[in-house]
Amino acid sequence: MSHRAAVPLFFSLLLSAALGNGASASDCYTVDYIDIFPDPGGPGFTWPRNSLMSATLLPYHYVPDIVLGPGENQYFYFHGLYGRGVPTYELFKESITLYSAGSDGSWANVGTDRTTRGGDAAFLLEAPNLLAPGAHHLKAWVSGDQTEANAFAWVWNPGMRAVVTDIDGTCTLDDLQEYLDIIYEIGPLDYVPEEKPGAAAVMQFWADHHVPVVYITARPLYLKQVTIDWLRAKGFPLGPLFLYGASGGILPPLTDAERIRFKSDRLSDLETRAGVRFLAAYGNTDTDAAAYCQALDMPPEHAFIIDCPSCDPTPECAFSTLSDSWWSHLQDLEEMGIPIVPQPCE
Ligand SMILES: [Mg+2]
Repeated sequence: MSHRAAVPLFFSLLLSAALGNGASASDCYTVDYIDIFPDPGGPGFTWPRNSLMSATLLPYHYVPDIVLGPGENQYFYFHGLYGRGVPTYELFKESITLYSAGSDGSWANVGTDRTTRGGDAAFLLEAPNLLAPGAHHLKAWVSGDQTEANAFAWVWNPGMRAVVTDIDGTCTLDDLQEYLDIIYEIGPLDYVPEEKPGAAAVMQFWADHHVPVVYITARPLYLKQVTIDWLRAKGFPLGPLFLYGASGGILPPLTDAERIRFKSDRLSDLETRAGVRFLAAYGNTDTDAAAYCQALDMPPEHAFIIDCPSCDPTPECAFSTLSDSWWSHLQDLEEMGIPIVPQPCE
């Protein structure tokens, strides 16, 4: 049995969005994943030890996604990792090139760097390579072994309306899926988490209304590509995807307090630095609820916590609870007649 949340506030908030910049919504609320990437060539590995590790271990490089205001420095970070399961070998002192996909699907070289001893490389984009307002698929390319890390960059004007969701137990069937993903990466078989029924349809509802979906998950950053692939395979719209990186990107947070801090800090940053306004938030645990309560400047009943019998709203932390599936929530959204949301994304 699902609790039907009060919806008129939702509707009035969305209508107020029409008072913002009425620029026609372009492609700033979702992004095309460009599968075709012709090998651009480039130098082989300098160090034989890197060649040996590449030949024997799986790559888990990552580039964190970033949401940028139009005047901000466009700075991107790469971390090179290898290792089955929990990666243990960092790609040191090798050349990395960052590419950006254009609207026609072609790839432009926007910078090259050499990793540090710790596997890090960094790219500061400057004219004429600055990313325009909108959504961009980026790829960091390791020419030494033709491996890669994919990321999305979102250059948003202040006032973007978005929704935020957790992934495990909210989009996947339960929170165990995160750990199964980690454990199965150790073995020879890939694990494909089950979807929570209706989750992709709810997120696609928002994308269809030009509202980007921001994914904030305590999964460690090394699972980024696994997570992108899963979202695509299950029909979720791509949006900014933030994973946990404070452990070097190889472990999830170890305490509930750290989970709450990670999510609330990320949300506060999006609200205060990038001017994002959240219309709804989705999660499955009291740590999600606590993070949303702490960080979001949003009516509390717009936080939806699913399938968490122990989650108990309090006056200090109110939220709407649901159970079983997202289908009843989708029905609520559809019955509200929500218009296409104008976004400030010229
Ligand atoms: Mg969860």
